Amino acid sequence: MGKTADRYLKIDPWRVIEEGFDPSRGRVSESMFSLANEFMGVRGYFEEGYSGDHLLGSYFNNLYEEMEAQHPQLFKGIVTRVCFGVNSVDWLYTRISVDGEKLDLAYSEVSDFKRCLDMKNGVLTREFVWHLKNGKKLKVSFTRFLSMVRAAVGAQRITFEPLNFSGSVQVRSGLDFSIIHEIASGWNQTKEGGVTDPKVGKNFWTCPKIEYQDGAVSILGRTVKSSHYLFSSFRIDSNSLLSSQFFESEKLAGRDCVLELRQGGVSCFDKLSFHHWKQTADGDSVFEQGKNILRQNAALTFETALKEHVQYWNKAWETIDIEIDGDPENQQGVRFSIFNLHQTYHGVDSHLNIPCKGLTAEVYFGQIFWDTETYCMPFYMFTNPQAARNLLLYRHRQLPQALERARQLDCVGARYPMCTLDGTESCATWQHGDFEIHVSVAVAYAIWHYTKITNDKEFLYDQGIEMLLQICRYYASRGEYSPLNGEFGLYGVMGPDEYHMNVNNNCYTNVMVKKAFEFTLAVIEEMRQKTPHLFKAICARVELKKEELDDWRQKAGKMRIPQDKNTGVLEQHDGYFDLPEVDVKAIPESQIPIYKHWAYVRIFRYKMIKQPDVLLLMLFYSNDYSLDIKGANYEYYESRCIHESSLSPGVHSILATELGKHDEAYEFFRYMARLDLDNFNKNTDQGLHVTSMSGAWLNVVYGFGGLRTDGDVLSFSPWIPRQWNAFRFRLLYRGSVLEVSVNKEVAEFSIVQGKPVQVKIYDKPVLIDAKGTKIRLTAIQNKTGKFAIQEIKHELSCNKSLEPNPA
Ligand code: BGC
Repeated sequence: MGKTADRYLKIDPWRVIEEGFDPSRGRVSESMFSLANEFMGVRGYFEEGYSGDHLLGSYFNNLYEEMEAQHPQLFKGIVTRVCFGVNSVDWLYTRISVDGEKLDLAYSEVSDFKRCLDMKNGVLTREFVWHLKNGKKLKVSFTRFLSMVRAAVGAQRITFEPLNFSGSVQVRSGLDFSIIHEIASGWNQTKEGGVTDPKVGKNFWTCPKIEYQDGAVSILGRTVKSSHYLFSSFRIDSNSLLSSQFFESEKLAGRDCVLELRQGGVSCFDKLSFHHWKQTADGDSVFEQGKNILRQNAALTFETALKEHVQYWNKAWETIDIEIDGDPENQQGVRFSIFNLHQTYHGVDSHLNIPCKGLTAEVYFGQIFWDTETYCMPFYMFTNPQAARNLLLYRHRQLPQALERARQLDCVGARYPMCTLDGTESCATWQHGDFEIHVSVAVAYAIWHYTKITNDKEFLYDQGIEMLLQICRYYASRGEYSPLNGEFGLYGVMGPDEYHMNVNNNCYTNVMVKKAFEFTLAVIEEMRQKTPHLFKAICARVELKKEELDDWRQKAGKMRIPQDKNTGVLEQHDGYFDLPEVDVKAIPESQIPIYKHWAYVRIFRYKMIKQPDVLLLMLFYSNDYSLDIKGANYEYYESRCIHESSLSPGVHSILATELGKHDEAYEFFRYMARLDLDNFNKNTDQGLHVTSMSGAWLNVVYGFGGLRTDGDVLSFSPWIPRQWNAFRFRLLYRGSVLEVSVNKEVAEFSIVQGKPVQVKIYDKPVLIDAKGTKIRLTAIQNKTGKFAIQEIKHELSCNKSLEPNPA
């Protein structure tokens, strides 16, 4: 893929370690050491203040401000209002000084700098020795975590160990609403960092209330346009407090403390911070609710909060972990990916979602995309089904906005936005927002996928079917019949590959919509027969007409699916085969990323594609395509794909494994697993690619584990990369925990909790139970090259190399 690694962090299975601080990598590290707990997130910034280049980022999931999308000449349907996740309170705010000298890593002299993210426990630490100008040496250590047990709570501990003196340290600790949102006037794709001009960064908060009561400092912030009120408060605890004084200014409040330092001792300063927010006109009630949270946590200490937080993570890892033996760097990468997905979202609140950059940045405006439904859903379905359900309920909550958007665009039904926070279209690049009509069908696909895996009929027959019906309505109204051949098509669209705009009949979209029509019709029929009362209720709720069902049946049947019948290659859209070629592998690295180096309009006139489009179908509906067809399409589109979306390589890795291209699969996987740890895209300074991190999980489970989920039962075709000794993962499936463990000799499947599960292994039906089933892989692993798995399937159906474990 021609992407090179920039590695400076230590390899460790459970930790991300930085030794020595390099200011030129300051922003990259800030992204890397981000923490989140679904409710809020902070970048790994230096809380004691840092005058060098940095992005102090503190974000609350779904807490947004609005900006105007400027269009000097406006047309109907183009959005003018964009919501963005706004940089919020710096609750870690600290200033430290000794004998009048301020600590600031931009100019203070320090040694033994070490920063460490402990993924096993969800804790970030940083330490160094500060060499003061007067010869004093002070070891300073910081610990922070965002409680996974109490979402409102953020915790910070600072310890001071004077190495050659006794004295005191001044610690100013506060809550700062004056922080700057950098991308305040739009995101300039052509500039480094994406910022239009950092100097035009803005602060979007006013602070109507500050209070100091019983030692706790509380402050209320309000966003100027969207009227989100954010309550933030803190208490401190210290074993060495000599004095403390409350201070306040316009948007900052806190306590000025003096701590005693004794040589040979450790002075400790703990800060517990509490948060609550709501979009409302009533700031006073938010303040009161916030203070209730403060009261409820009156007895909470740093130690107890840490203990329950660590217990949470240790328990979570029992299900979400993937173990890889023999590949430490990718073991770290896979865990880093899982850690970030889980910390960004784990299904506590169905009002929240997974912004594509998590809670780590301002680019992509903190918004959520179709990434959630297509790329992230499997991780949640199999590690945390409740979270998967809540992600769908999130879309259901936003159904009214999707209905309204369809109307604005002269259609009916539900037209989900390309990117959003409040359910309305927030894509400032109108071409993407308006041509990419594949988001609604991603929602339909996720409903199908989720209910297929979980059998959650309660959801399907209520919110699920309501969304499906409205989504079908949208596409039925959005498409037209061709006057030439009578086929039904979707004209004037952009598929997932964003390098082809305003095309007709994007194959991916058409197939997905056909599937959505068929699935919806099947669910409606099932409900009519099995739950007539619910059937009647939903028909009434959406005013469904029988003619609509007939219409969708006909449109599904007549859907245009462009394909070259000779080669079996699906044509990405009408006319795609006719486009000029460009050798994407020959494009020099100096021109990457393309969107920064090629004129915008130049990108659209070649066969070059940004990310998988047709190939997604071969993964989502694997059973519909023969291995030959998958092979033909993979060869065709892989050679034309520039992988400019970080979502991209993971899909190629999975298909490459299926096609027996093991080294290629591993290469793509390597990129997915360490996407940010190695800064492959050279933009980790702008935040983590959190939704793309699902690719690392998918590559192990769907790729090397060979899981496919579109058949009647789960099916597996495991394969172990030659670089590995073994790998293991667990899946939650219909109340059971299924463990898959593969080494170079055998693949072993067992149920570690719950009832037996019927699966297929290399196409052979097997009932997995607690005793487990082993498959000898030795003969299989020797097979290499194209279609190896096909041969294995054949071999397994002749030989008896599948056997239950001895009891
Ligand atoms: C990709 C989209 C994706 C978005 C957010 C874009 O670069 O082309 O498919 O939804 O990033 O991850």
